[in-house]
Amino acid sequence: MSKGNTANKKIYKRLKRTGIPGTIFSFIFYTLLALLIMFLTVWQFTKYIFVTKMEHEYKDLQLLAKTGVTAFENGTAEGFDELISLDYLITDRSGNVTAASGEDTRAGVKERVKFDIDSEFIDIYMDKDNIYYYIDHDGTLAFDFPALLLSGRRALYYPAPEQTAAMQDISDKEVKLSKSIIYYPVWMSVDMGDTEQSLVAKTFFSLNLREFYLLIEIAAVIAVLIMFLLLSMFIKSIKNIIRQKRTINYFYTDTVTGGGNWIRYLIKGDALLKSSWNRKKNFAVVNLVFVNYRNYCICHSIEMGEEMLKQISGIITSSLSKKDEMCAHSSSSSFALILRYVNDEELDARLKGLINRLEQTGTGHKFTFQAGVSMIQKSTDRNGYPVKRKDIDLESEYNNACTARETLADSGESGIAYFDEKIVSEQKWFEQVQERQKKALENEEFLVYYQPKYDPRTNTLKGAEALIRWQSPDLGFISPGKFIPIFEKNGFIVEIDHYMIRHVAADQKRWLDAGFKCVPVSVNVSRAHFIESDLAEQIRNMIDDAGCPHELIEIELTESAFFDDKKAMINTINKLKGYGFHVSMDDFGSGYSSLNSLKDMPLDVLKLDAEFFRGDFTGDRGEIVVSEAIKLAKSLNMKTVAEGVEVKEQVDFLAKEGCDMIQGFYFSKPVPSSDYEKKMGRPEQ
Ligand code: C2E
Ligand code: MG
Ligand code: MG
Repeated sequence: MSKGNTANKKIYKRLKRTGIPGTIFSFIFYTLLALLIMFLTVWQFTKYIFVTKMEHEYKDLQLLAKTGVTAFENGTAEGFDELISLDYLITDRSGNVTAASGEDTRAGVKERVKFDIDSEFIDIYMDKDNIYYYIDHDGTLAFDFPALLLSGRRALYYPAPEQTAAMQDISDKEVKLSKSIIYYPVWMSVDMGDTEQSLVAKTFFSLNLREFYLLIEIAAVIAVLIMFLLLSMFIKSIKNIIRQKRTINYFYTDTVTGGGNWIRYLIKGDALLKSSWNRKKNFAVVNLVFVNYRNYCICHSIEMGEEMLKQISGIITSSLSKKDEMCAHSSSSSFALILRYVNDEELDARLKGLINRLEQTGTGHKFTFQAGVSMIQKSTDRNGYPVKRKDIDLESEYNNACTARETLADSGESGIAYFDEKIVSEQKWFEQVQERQKKALENEEFLVYYQPKYDPRTNTLKGAEALIRWQSPDLGFISPGKFIPIFEKNGFIVEIDHYMIRHVAADQKRWLDAGFKCVPVSVNVSRAHFIESDLAEQIRNMIDDAGCPHELIEIELTESAFFDDKKAMINTINKLKGYGFHVSMDDFGSGYSSLNSLKDMPLDVLKLDAEFFRGDFTGDRGEIVVSEAIKLAKSLNMKTVAEGVEVKEQVDFLAKEGCDMIQGFYFSKPVPSSDYEKKMGRPEQ
């Protein structure tokens, strides 16, 4: 993934992290904190009440323990039972019961409590039969108010403090709290002085109704406050979540189409392809381009162009499965898609159908859509089981789709191109050439070959065309068809053409000085040069620098170059002619009709394209066209050169029709300068 997109992904992740989950997390955190505060407050308060209330009981027990000391010193409890109306136990140091009255209903867990009147901690046990309070695992004391209020099952009710034995179930009896005091049995242990024994007695923690209500009221007030706090926090969190959702949506939305944007495509698309749910599916990453977008904007307006993009986005989106397909507006006229497919035919038919539908949107206009496709098949392990696509990189897949689509760019027609091995090797070749071009020029790896042009009537040399060859130390001998189109694309062609002009001018000058019978040599000049207004001057200067006479150089312009700025072209041709150079139209008849160009351009030579002489040339129609083209050139005062002539019949025919020169394998292939020298010859030889 590119740096920019990785950064976008990071921003998105941060936004997401600090967004909805962050809000939910803080809500949960504050809720727990509020509940904790509530419980701590209630617990502290209850504990305070408990300690205050039980102090009295504790004092009584201490007194009893003191009086009981004598009674137990000699191991008898005589007289003690009359003093105490509670259930009690006498325990020794190690906790063994040495005497008892009533049932020992202590629960096993004990709590240490300190009363203000004494600095000692004393042991407090809950009662086994009652669960009004309990001591939890941490050893903290807590009260079970809900149990008291709600579970009648174990709640104990004492109609009056004196009737301690009369325990009844609340559920069994109608309780009138207003007249009652609620008791909780609590076992307390008090030291019995030097006897090293303890008095453990069942005392009662009591609450009268006022106290009880006060407790409830305080708990209720705290609960209401907490509830209010939580509610307002909840509302705030919901609002936050909605806002965050909007922000994320905004982050994902394309401002032109209102659909998904490039970031959404990369993030969601990546997850879609890598998901283990989708491991059994085949996916196609598609770059779909609305070719006419710029023109449409120029003809109408940018707003209308964008409206059209919106409509297109709508049509594409409506054709997708919401579950596992997606579309995004990736750049001005491009859409990025992820489609699920079953097999190649189904995908092709689907894309054709989509393009067809999209073409209909151009009511009145001919709309063109081009799609490049990179296919991602399900990946399997060694045993053939589908596995997650862990290493897939959506951005580079999309790049491949774009590369495939670019192969259609020149056609100007709707179409679909699939990324395959051929494109990969073309890409590689493109890179290899591009990497080496500069060094190759510096090292003079480019060679000038000459292909002679002969007069078909006299078989004499009348001219030649300079054609480039590349003798690369690592790529080998390369013909121009393999690198000139690349140089035309990357602009290096300008330097190549200058290189050729300089070398041809230098060769001509050298041959002239050496006494060869020099004939004009034509040099190809690419259309890329015509953006330079001083092209004619540049060419003249290069040729003058070599000291070559102007009439020995001819400039070849390809037919396609004539579609650029016509006015500038005519201007340059006139200047070149003014400096004494010949100017020719190369490849006349290939591709585009350039009769119109012939009308406007003051050219000297018409080069008939090799295609005229391919296939069934001997048929009447082919001959008629060539014969008429020669006549046309003559009436425009132009010379004709027939390119690509390979057979004698064609040479004879062209001689008969008055074609001035023939450049073809029949006479000679393009040859190195040393061979060409021999073809020129010297008059004195
Ligand atoms: P072009 O300028 O139309 O050159 C004629 C091409 O036809 C040459 O191909 C030549 O070898 C080929 N040819 C000539 N006679 C025959 C024939 O009888 N049979 C067949 N089969 N082919 C024949 P080449 O040298 O491969 O050049 C291809 C194209 O590359 C040229 O077409 C030209 O457009 C471009 N090119 C070559 N050198 C240069 C250059 O220095 N600058 C620029 N801008 N383009 C160049
Ligand atoms: Mg040419
Ligand atoms: Mg040509």
